[in-house]
Amino acid sequence: MRILISGGAGFIGSHLTEALLAAGHHVIVLDNFITGRPGNMEDYRGHPEFEFHEHDIVEPFTGLTAPVEAIFHLASPASPVGYSAHPIETHLVNSVGTHNMLKLARQYGAKFLVTSTSEAYGDPLQHPQREDYWGNVNPVGPRSCYDESKRFSESLTMEYFRQFGLDARIVRLFNTYGPRNDPQDGRVVPNFINQALEGRPITIYGNGSQTRSFCYISDLVRGLQAAMFAEGTKGEVINLGNPDERTILDFAETVRRICNPEAPLVFQPGRVDDPNQRCPDITKARTRLGWEPEVSLEDGLLKTIEYFRSQAGQRQLKEKSV
Ligand code: UDP
Repeated sequence: MRILISGGAGFIGSHLTEALLAAGHHVIVLDNFITGRPGNMEDYRGHPEFEFHEHDIVEPFTGLTAPVEAIFHLASPASPVGYSAHPIETHLVNSVGTHNMLKLARQYGAKFLVTSTSEAYGDPLQHPQREDYWGNVNPVGPRSCYDESKRFSESLTMEYFRQFGLDARIVRLFNTYGPRNDPQDGRVVPNFINQALEGRPITIYGNGSQTRSFCYISDLVRGLQAAMFAEGTKGEVINLGNPDERTILDFAETVRRICNPEAPLVFQPGRVDDPNQRCPDITKARTRLGWEPEVSLEDGLLKTIEYFRSQAGQRQLKEKSV
């Protein structure tokens, strides 16, 4: 199958690319590197079925040489640090960019999947969050460039499904982690691991009682493929995440125990509009897709820590050689 991935040089997109190449597909990646990284594609850049175009999808993409059969639309800054640094670009990619991808899918009659987010639920008043919960979003706060533009992206996708019968589905991704997490994007997993590995204080924002549920990347990538290709997902909204909910304080202690028991914990001011609790209800993914996460937090963390250790080793080698 010929498959296009927007945002394919990002953390999740690069793992999805690898999985689709391994399954024998031809994969066309579009990315403008606003938060994606060329280094994420190093492991498969020479693969004969891999095609890359540096392209901002806010502009229409006209570089296809043959039709595509499926479009995974992942492009968007996704970390609070990433979208706060690029709020207008975030609005545009999730509005105009989504529209461009929907038009492309319609033109070729391709299946379409858009990655939305648990942020669509805002600071949720329902717990755990089910897909039919409408959310509690601050429409003008600092996170709104992401939350509201993703909600717009969902709404536009549903119009293409309703008006044109597009074979489209929406997945709401909860916190995901693993190798290729950008160490600079300020997310809690790379922050805590790198702080602990380097013996720096582990920075907890607020009192650490807020919760998150962390899904390992290989589980998520299986979920994305199931949501795209399983029967009966057309027009559906599906949560993908790991319901193993932890407080941020508990998570900090877990990372410290595994990486460096000497690392101190420091408490810093909380982020504005930081959701208090977040945990997916994955009943729908379980029943419709036969999907559920398999990798425990401890196992996933070990793999992620190994990746960050090897990155630090490579940096040291480079520094020595110059
Ligand atoms: N967080 C933290 N210390 C950090 C980075 C993040 O305590 O160094 C907290 C953050 O306030 C939030 C949670 O960890 O409550 C997850 O933050 P992240 O940026 O990973 O993503 P979010 O789930 O907020 O989109």
